[in-house]
Amino acid sequence: MQRIYMDHSATTPLDEEVLEVMLPYLREIHGNPSSVHVFGSEARKGLNEAREKVAAALGASSPEEIIFTSGATESNNIAIQGVARALSSRGRHIITSSIEHHAVLDTVKYLGQIGFEVTFLPVDQYGMVDPDELAENITEDTILVSIMAANNEIGTIQPFEKIGEICRERGVYFHTDAVQAIGYLPFNLKEQPVDMLSLSAHKFYGPKGIGALYCRKGTKIRQLCFGGAQERKIRPGTENLPGIVGLGRAIELATTDIENRSRNLAALRDRLIRGLLEIEDIRLNGHPQKRLPGNVNVSVLYVEGESLLLDLDLKGVAASSGSACTSGSLDPSHVLMAIGLDHQTAQGSLRLSLGKSNTVAEIDYTVKCLKEIVERLRKMSPVLKK
Ligand SMILES: *Cc1c(COP(=O)(O)O)cnc(C)c1O
Repeated sequence: MQRIYMDHSATTPLDEEVLEVMLPYLREIHGNPSSVHVFGSEARKGLNEAREKVAAALGASSPEEIIFTSGATESNNIAIQGVARALSSRGRHIITSSIEHHAVLDTVKYLGQIGFEVTFLPVDQYGMVDPDELAENITEDTILVSIMAANNEIGTIQPFEKIGEICRERGVYFHTDAVQAIGYLPFNLKEQPVDMLSLSAHKFYGPKGIGALYCRKGTKIRQLCFGGAQERKIRPGTENLPGIVGLGRAIELATTDIENRSRNLAALRDRLIRGLLEIEDIRLNGHPQKRLPGNVNVSVLYVEGESLLLDLDLKGVAASSGSACTSGSLDPSHVLMAIGLDHQTAQGSLRLSLGKSNTVAEIDYTVKCLKEIVERLRKMSPVLKK
């Protein structure tokens, strides 16, 4: 049976070209970048080059603005907790949205328990934050705003530059979780009003367990871990050099020819959406236009999302309900609840996230399978239908 992968928002396969540049760092180049000898300098060269590549891909002013981490979960924690620790004497108010990834949500919730005040901005039916509403919520006490660039479940792209401008005018730091946007939206941080940005390599065909935090020069941030001078002391510990080198190559590939790749992927996405909307009682979640080129999220009424997923898996199609992190839990997705879906509709939701391996034939096969599956499931449990 053919296997079709439509879960690229959870993770992507490692690109062959990325693996190639990593191999020497797993085989021969084993030095510690902090060592003075030739083994160290060889390793240091790889580290510096990768940092330059990430800085160039993001349009950062300097490679020093890039801090390597173990992934976006860590980057989000360092950004949010790091600013909270550095600025707690100046203010204790943080603003975020209600549809952030749990790496942001749970971090600010924790800060809420230890004396910070957190505002969770609501979103509209498409998952959009309203910049005016953000502006109204900034107070004298606000130190940080964290709003994602694009949502991992429903694909909605936020007006994050507008949000950044407001933050800059009001003298508040702006952090964005850009994990899902890298490789699809162009970044030029020299010009964009973003103080901190999180990314994770395995979301754009790089290795797992490696990511970065862009931290604009001068941003006040305090480290969470202690013990070394690596990564400007903000993230001490011996570097994951094969991962870092892989990240450097992966982001270079991901940010080349963004426009063409995004256009082609969006064409596949729209074909999938058109096909799925032929099913009765199905609705598209997320924004009709301002959405990631690979994201499809639908609610199939009168059907359980988990049943859809299992049946699709039997047909060889790998999809997801909500995000990988919330799959397996019985709670409906916080994102779908935030855009106003009722409990049952949210439970009947499916995310298909496309990537560079997907073909038109795979899209058509998936649509055909889903039509059959939905029909059968609805026949089996007509009780769900009023
Ligand atoms: C995947 C993801 C993360 C977490 O990345 P890790 O590599 O698991 O640390 C954070 N935010 C968003 C939006 C994501 O999609």
